[in-house]
Amino acid sequence: MYIHIKGLKDERFARPLQLIANLFFEETSVSLEKVSGEPDFVIDFELKVGHQVEVQATLQHADGQTFQAQYDKEMPREATEKEQFKVIKNTVAHVYLSVLQDYTKMVQKWGILTGIRPTKLLHKSLQEGLTKEEAHKKLKTDYLITDEKIQLMQDIVDRQLAVVPDLYDLQNEVSIYIGIPFCPTKCAYCTFPAYAINGRQGSVNSFLGGLHFEMRKIGEWLKENDVKITTVYYGGGTPTSITAEEMDMLYEEMYTSFPDVKNIREVTVEAGRPDTITPEKLEVLKKWNIDRISVNPQSYTQETLKAIGRHHTVEETIEKFHLARQMEMNNINMDLIIGLPGEGVAEFQHSLDETEKLMPESLTIHTLSFKRASEMTRNKDRYKVASREEIIEMMDLGEKWTKEHGYAPYYLYRQKNILGNLENVGYSLPNQESIYNIMIMEEQQTIIGLGCGAASKFIDQDGKIMHFANPKDPKTYNDSFEEYTNKKISILNDIYKNSALAK
Ligand code: SF4
Repeated sequence: MYIHIKGLKDERFARPLQLIANLFFEETSVSLEKVSGEPDFVIDFELKVGHQVEVQATLQHADGQTFQAQYDKEMPREATEKEQFKVIKNTVAHVYLSVLQDYTKMVQKWGILTGIRPTKLLHKSLQEGLTKEEAHKKLKTDYLITDEKIQLMQDIVDRQLAVVPDLYDLQNEVSIYIGIPFCPTKCAYCTFPAYAINGRQGSVNSFLGGLHFEMRKIGEWLKENDVKITTVYYGGGTPTSITAEEMDMLYEEMYTSFPDVKNIREVTVEAGRPDTITPEKLEVLKKWNIDRISVNPQSYTQETLKAIGRHHTVEETIEKFHLARQMEMNNINMDLIIGLPGEGVAEFQHSLDETEKLMPESLTIHTLSFKRASEMTRNKDRYKVASREEIIEMMDLGEKWTKEHGYAPYYLYRQKNILGNLENVGYSLPNQESIYNIMIMEEQQTIIGLGCGAASKFIDQDGKIMHFANPKDPKTYNDSFEEYTNKKISILNDIYKNSALAK
C-alpha cells in the first residue's frame, strides 16, 4: 500500500502520518513526495495557520471515490514553536484519521493517539485543573477517542489515585529498577536483555559484582541527598535465574545500601519463569520481605509454550504457584499473552479457566506485539497468529472475565505493531495493584535503572524526561558499569542542584 500526501511539506508530518496509516493497513508506505509507482490513493491537504489552525483533507482513491474531512483548532497564545507545531500536527492527524476511517469503515478506538501511555494525557489534563467532564470532552473532540476507551482511562486513573493518593507529589522521591539479564532459555518473542544462563557462571559473577557496585553508589547518593525510594522492581531477564545465595546477597545489599528500605512502599521480584522457582529461592524472598512476585504462565497450552521456546510445562507453572502460596507469597502477579502463535479464543478461554483455579492477586493481559528484534518477527511466516477480529474477541473476553472475577484495570500501555492496535492491561484485585507499574506508566517521578539493559528515566522539576540506558549485554556492562554509574550520579546532581526537588 502506497499513500501519497499532497499539501504538507514539513518532514515532521511524515512519521505521525505513517503511524496512523499503520493502524489501518499492514505494510503501508506514506510519502510527502511523489515517488515512483502509482499510489493506491492520494490525500490532499489544505492547511491555514493563524489564530486558528484550519485543516481540510480530501482522499482521492484510484477508483474515483473521494472522502473529505475538516477540523479547526484554536492556536494558544504565547505557545512556543514546538507547542504550535504540536497543535498543527494534531489537527492534521484529526482530519487524516477521519478520511481514513470513512474510507476503510474502521473506527480507531484510540483515535489519533499512537503513543504508549494514553492515561498520561488524562492525568495531565486533571493536573492542569480541568474537570473530568472537560478532560473527557477534550479526549473525544481533539483526539477522537471513543467513549469506551475514555471510560477505561478514567477507571484506571481513579484506581491509581486511590492506591497512590499522593501520585502527583512524588517527584521528590525515586523508584529503582534492577535488571538481571539472564534466563534459563530465550523465548521466541523476547526482545529484553536476556541471555541463556547455562555455562555463563563467570559472566554472572562479574555482572553481579557490577550490580552491587551500582547499588552501593546510588544508595550512597540517595542517602546523602535525603531522597526516599518509593518502589523497587527486580526485572530482566528473570531475576530468579541466579542462585538462592546470589539472590540473598543481592537483597542484603539492598538493605545495606538503600535508604530506609523498611518504608519502601513495594519491592517486586519477577520470578517470571516457573522453571527458576525453588523452595530455597522462595525462602530468600520471604527472608527479605519481598512484597510481590510474578509467576508467568503466558499460556496454559503446552504446545504454545513449546512453540515460543519456554522450556517449562503448564503443570510446573501451577505447581510453583502453589509452592509460592505455601511459602506465604501473598501478592502474586500472572501474565497472559493474547495472540500467541496457534492460539485462538478456545486456548485463551482455557487460560482464563486455569487462572480461575489460582486467582492470583493481579493478572496482566498482554497482546502479542511483533517487535522488530524478536526471533518471531524475523521468521514471521513460521508463526501463525490469530486474525484482528479474533484478537479483539479475546481482549473482550479478558475484560469480561476479569470484571466477573473481581479484578479492575489499574494500568495500561500500548505498543507499536501490537496486533489489532489494542493494549496491554494490568488488572488486579482491590488493593493489590503494583505501585511500581503505576510509577513507570505515568512518569510522575524519576526511575533509576541499575544492572544490564536497565533504562533510567530522569524527570526534572519541569517534568522534562531524560532517558539513559545501561548497556544491554553483560560483557559491555562488566567493562563499563563504573562509568555508567558516574554518569547517572552526575545527571542526578544536575536535576537536584538548585532545583525545587532538593529539600
Ligand atoms: S522469560 Fe522473559 S526475559 Fe526471559 S527470555 Fe522469556 S520473555 Fe525474555
